[in-house]
Amino acid sequence: MNDKAKQALEILLEGNRNFVSGKTTAQHRTVEDLKKLSQGQSPIACVVTCSDSRVIPELVFDKGFGDIFIVRCAGAVIGENILESVEYAVDHLKVPLVMVLSHDDCGVMKAAKSLYPEEPEHLELLIRSVYEIIDSETECYNEIAKNYTLTKKRKLLKRSKILRQAHFDGKFEIVRAYLKFDTGEVVIVED
Ligand SMILES: [Zn+2]
Repeated sequence: MNDKAKQALEILLEGNRNFVSGKTTAQHRTVEDLKKLSQGQSPIACVVTCSDSRVIPELVFDKGFGDIFIVRCAGAVIGENILESVEYAVDHLKVPLVMVLSHDDCGVMKAAKSLYPEEPEHLELLIRSVYEIIDSETECYNEIAKNYTLTKKRKLLKRSKILRQAHFDGKFEIVRAYLKFDTGEVVIVED
């Protein structure tokens, strides 16, 4: 991992330690902070995560305005709009780090696990996408959520030429992470 990515990750994890210990700085959260950013942004990282109302990157990483470029959709399933949003973060905003963050009790993972292998009638694209990594042996939907971050990481690189090239050139790194609801801790998932 290059220095910039390492530094960005350390800043996020340090913020998470603040959050977990209840000693948040709540920095960059005033109107003044927002005003300073009125001409532009240079976030330290892009976080690709779920729309779940319990997953709030600014809170769990103790950050505020302008710090994190967040790309969200239910289940954080990688579709075209998500890809382009991440491309914007990497190519235009030059973030050195993309974090794929999944979490406990994810509704999309739960739905996919309980339906599998039935044809989904609702949320078809989301559920089918998760089916790619489910088999009848898969026990726990939290494990699915954790494992699925690898699929997301691969898809970002496989499906976007811009991301693939930038990654090849060492412009950014992708890390996989998981938010635990019982502690508020974000743990890094190793490849
Ligand atoms: Zn979710």
